[in-house]
Amino acid sequence: MTINWNNNISKMAQDRLSPSLLGDLFAIEHKYKPICLSAGEPNSDFFPLEELAPFFKDVCKKRELFGYYPFHAGHVGLREWIKNWMKDDNIAAPWVEVDNIILTTGSQQGLALLSDLLVDEGDLVAVEAPTYLEALRAFRKSGANFIEVEADENGIIPESFEMVCKQNKPRLLYTIPNFQNPTGSVTSLERRKSILKIAQKFDVVIIEDDPYRYVSFIDSLPDSYMSLSGDDDRVIYLGSFSKIICPGIRCGWMIVPVPLVKKVTQLRHTIEISLPASLQHIVYCFCNQMDRKQYFNKIQKVYKNRCDVLVSTLNETMADKGLEMNFPKGGYFIWSHLPGINNMRNFVEYSIINFGVSVTPGYIFYVRSGQGLDTLRFSFAKVSLEEISEGCERLARSYDSFVAL
Ligand code: PMP
Repeated sequence: MTINWNNNISKMAQDRLSPSLLGDLFAIEHKYKPICLSAGEPNSDFFPLEELAPFFKDVCKKRELFGYYPFHAGHVGLREWIKNWMKDDNIAAPWVEVDNIILTTGSQQGLALLSDLLVDEGDLVAVEAPTYLEALRAFRKSGANFIEVEADENGIIPESFEMVCKQNKPRLLYTIPNFQNPTGSVTSLERRKSILKIAQKFDVVIIEDDPYRYVSFIDSLPDSYMSLSGDDDRVIYLGSFSKIICPGIRCGWMIVPVPLVKKVTQLRHTIEISLPASLQHIVYCFCNQMDRKQYFNKIQKVYKNRCDVLVSTLNETMADKGLEMNFPKGGYFIWSHLPGINNMRNFVEYSIINFGVSVTPGYIFYVRSGQGLDTLRFSFAKVSLEEISEGCERLARSYDSFVAL
């Protein structure tokens, strides 16, 4: 006898968990192993594994880290280190203490926890158009509806946000102010101040998702929403080590206001009891010995070089096809418009299968269908300089072949 699982899967899982559009493409990439101008993850050559190795060895001497860890908010030393870092760099608000820093298994978990904590069925979440796809999926799980706010290369347009607040009264604004995924935009200081004022006027919570901040090619960035908000504790900040150490270490953090601390802990307890303290201890030891400025400079140089090469190679190979792109000041992504393609999903699949190069169709980052149909997201994070040149050549050939079909 077998069970009819369709009758046993929850309504939430049936209605709100859908296949990821990116997951589909990953499966094709996995099969054809193209040059990856699509991946939002770092090249494994950049992982500081040699530096991490002694800490992996040493952690085995700390038996207490392998039992149930009593601190549900995560490794205390690492939280303290993050608090000092966030204070030194003027990211954290003045009210932030170590108790407000809660470790996560990456920003994605932060998003999932916040979605469970803050979103009720039917609540409206305001998001940039376009935005990070997996955040939408996390909020959708709790029954969120979305309202898109217009954005350009300087981030969210305050007038659009104000209009959305007036007409739709969202509960939350989810934003990626630095080197946004997928567009690479940075929200200007003036706009951040205006958006914060509007959020205060309409009593909207801001979730500031900031995993790319330290992959920056410029000297300074505008103040964080959290530091601009001062004593007003409406901003929740999400950080991650995925882009600056490695994603597989699964370590990030949230900075949450006092009234949320207990609830996050209670919620976490229902999911995983406690966090992988041994891994967090390794991250702590690594961070503790790091010269932050020097370390980030090194990362920034590597990515800037790749970004410059991708921009100039795309100019050489794709500009004559009408490709227009932005010039990112940091992060992993280049956002572009490519005319002449009637179905970007098919073009991407065609390029992977026939020419061995992958890029990401931009329309998948929009909430409403029919938008961004001529857009592509390029990533320079995972590829070598040689792969960038070869990948762009292949894409140009794929374009010519596809439009001639
Ligand atoms: N937020 C944004 C904007 C991202 O681009 C990513 C990773 N692609 C995440 C969150 C999740 O990162 P992680 O869980 O690895 O920290």
